[in-house]
Amino acid sequence: MNDCIFCKIIDGSIPSKKAYEDDRILAFHDVNPQAPVHVLVVPKEHICCADAVNEDNADVVAHIFTKIPEIAKSLGLVNGYRIVNNCGDDACQTVKHMHFHILGGKQLNGEMA
Ligand code: 5GP
Ligand code: ZN
Repeated sequence: MNDCIFCKIIDGSIPSKKAYEDDRILAFHDVNPQAPVHVLVVPKEHICCADAVNEDNADVVAHIFTKIPEIAKSLGLVNGYRIVNNCGDDACQTVKHMHFHILGGKQLNGEMA
């Protein structure tokens, strides 16, 4: 998947401002933040989207959700945050490497769509 922007961020060929990293996942600040805190959490393994999660790769999704509270705390999100995943064209997924947005740092809009 050498034309995937997020794979390039993971391998370091595109720079990013990292918020968390371990052997399986990376969290980095969104280049176009939509809230005072806007971080993306991605598996290092290329998974196109939530629609491609299955029994064989679901462990990394569980790992992401295990780490999100720690990442959110490190970002100062003590009063809550929103986790967003856009899956596919109707959801306006622009980067086809599954990622979870962590948004916070202000009172967010109550509308989902
Ligand atoms: P999506 O619309 O696919 O759910 O979200 C993709 C996100 O990736 C967008 O919020 C966009 O700003 C962010 N993004 C796209 N390219 C880059 C990049 O090169 N670096 C970083 N840090 N974020 C990016
Ligand atoms: Zn990728």
